[in-house]
Amino acid sequence: MKSYDIALLPGDGIGPEVTAEAVKAVEAAGARHGFKVRWIEYPFGAAHYNRTGETFPDSALGEMGLCDAMLLGAVGDPSVKPGILERGILLKLRFHFDQYVNLRPARSYAGVPCPVPLPDGVRIDSVVVRENTEDFYMGIGAAAQKDGLDLPFEAERGLYKLTGRLSVNFTPDCAAALQIGALTRPGIERVTRYAFELAKKRGEKEVVLASKANAVPFLYGFLDEETRRAAKEYPDIALKIQNVDALCYHLARNPAAYGVILCPNLFGDIVSDLLSGLTGGLGLGAGGNIGDRLSMFEPVHGSAPDIAGTGKANPLAAILCAAMMLDRIGESAGARSIEAAVASCLEEDGAGGEKPVELGGRASCRSVGDSVARRIE
Ligand code: ATP
Repeated sequence: MKSYDIALLPGDGIGPEVTAEAVKAVEAAGARHGFKVRWIEYPFGAAHYNRTGETFPDSALGEMGLCDAMLLGAVGDPSVKPGILERGILLKLRFHFDQYVNLRPARSYAGVPCPVPLPDGVRIDSVVVRENTEDFYMGIGAAAQKDGLDLPFEAERGLYKLTGRLSVNFTPDCAAALQIGALTRPGIERVTRYAFELAKKRGEKEVVLASKANAVPFLYGFLDEETRRAAKEYPDIALKIQNVDALCYHLARNPAAYGVILCPNLFGDIVSDLLSGLTGGLGLGAGGNIGDRLSMFEPVHGSAPDIAGTGKANPLAAILCAAMMLDRIGESAGARSIEAAVASCLEEDGAGGEKPVELGGRASCRSVGDSVARRIE
């Protein structure tokens, strides 16, 4: 029987509640499809930080690197200044393991209302492939009250180290800010390849690239050119380049028309939230940070401290993350079983008895997890 080591970081707030249900779903899928999981649990998060002052030790990175994948609940708590845990845990993991794709599927489900009327039998089934390391998220920038800006910068990524200096004067002098976006050929190539491989796997004939070369010609003109170049490897799949504003307009009117949407970092952040809103909302949003080494799967929602411990948390996003994780480690049949169980759970009518509180039902976090696990078995 195949066996996998999975790093488990339940984290804060509702994180431990929802990951417990995701673990249950994976165990049920393993029992049905013949694989085993060894969970290696880590305590990092707000409580650990408040107790020890430690966010995330480097030694854990080495251990996690030996795992097949990682499942994360949520990190963040009002008792810790915003940014400390996000930088110290989430970004540290993303950069260390060079997780260059942020994958955000968006699917509509029978039983979950969609704010855009869809014709009978038509479903949203799209996935945003967001580049996760470049663009305006390089963290390079400065703001100054006067005397222009003199900005030495440095950023390190898996692919390269970037250093430089930018010196800018405004005449007349005024308070100003600058933030630099960067895109590189190897950065674009690898995420394009990922998007096209995914389209191939989904049997699709087109990948849509969200761009804005007309208004931001240097950065996104380069993006268009380099994506076109990389896409030549896939002559059977068309690359359609769409301005991100037009893309949002069409998504809001006809979301079911889209499959794989490839986005630079900033647009990907926005487009994937738009799609979340068009489908099931926060409690159904699953995400993966994918790299060639350790990939990490985490729900889109945060730690929701306001409902932690009340049983009202919807575990379906975490459970769908578990399905994405199984796909990544090669247990696709297990992934499909989990997705089918979630869909069946949401379709269940019966006055919404088995639906999570968030979706108008009465079921607690644990009973939603039990219902999904039962359907997998
Ligand atoms: P972050 O910045 O970490 O994403 P946030 O406070 O902006 O945190 P969330 O923690 O996701 O966002 O919570 C926003 C609200 O959505 C919460 O107040 C909570 O009521 C609701 N919410 C989030 N996740 C869930 C869930 N899984 N089930 C039910 N409600 C949820």
